[in-house]
Amino acid sequence: MGAIDEAALAMIRRCTDCGDETMAPEPGGLRCRRCGHRYRFDANGVLVALPSTPGLGLPAFYRSRFYARWLRAWDDMVAKGWVIYERPLYRFFSLSGHRRIRAALEALGPPDGPVVDLGCGDGRLLGLLGPRSAIGVDLNAAFLARLKARAPAALAVQADFNNLPFATGSLSCCTSAHVLEHLYFLAEGLEEVHRVLAADGRFLFTIPTEGGVGWELGRRLVTGPRLRRDYRLDVQDVMAIEHINDARRVLRLARLYFRLDRPAYAPFPFVPLRSLNSSITVAAAPLPVDHELRAAA
Ligand SMILES: [Zn+2]
Repeated sequence: MGAIDEAALAMIRRCTDCGDETMAPEPGGLRCRRCGHRYRFDANGVLVALPSTPGLGLPAFYRSRFYARWLRAWDDMVAKGWVIYERPLYRFFSLSGHRRIRAALEALGPPDGPVVDLGCGDGRLLGLLGPRSAIGVDLNAAFLARLKARAPAALAVQADFNNLPFATGSLSCCTSAHVLEHLYFLAEGLEEVHRVLAADGRFLFTIPTEGGVGWELGRRLVTGPRLRRDYRLDVQDVMAIEHINDARRVLRLARLYFRLDRPAYAPFPFVPLRSLNSSITVAAAPLPVDHELRAAA
């Protein structure tokens, strides 16, 4: 299992079954003092913090054969060295938001507790953040296994974005890179980030400039032909499901829960045009709310 980051592990306090915030360490994992629900480390060293019964049900198209084919295609492309991550020119665009998050984190000063990366995937963003206490959260156990292989000291947690194992108001910094555009339950996800953040905490997120000419060109010239040729998939059909929220919708809903700093475009921040840039990065501060009132509502 490797050395576990104790400061990070101490942040896992909330039971995803009963909502109580008294999860306590025990050999091999954690246990809820109230209902007895257990979190266990799996064979890859990933802490499984899922509830006993699934929460909000996703619509049927996420279980369709078409969607399963797309997920296999994506895995296959990444395994074969997908161009947007492997070639420098494409990386310049595809990781522009990741670099903005790193800059925003550095601007915040010394960290007060671990950075929690929501929808961390295989740890691409965490890998850029350097040696700091970090927790990677994702629903996909295979991605988390890759994260553990890449960064054995990081705490990798399998959990649902809408039902996080962190106590209310306990985190100083959450990040997410190219995740919010995928969330079918976006409002619930934002509300959950708002819940776990401290009053002076920050949520640093980056999303693609969906709808701009840059992504459109990339799909027409790179992703589209590849998906059609190798997997017989139509990129527009895929993106209609994958990028279910465009940038405007993400920002509009985020403003219900957070005060947003001026969005930063990347890689060309001085040309704040959607079409020339590939990402929009935002530092979000939680709006004040009475959590007890909200929980009672
Ligand atoms: Zn419990």
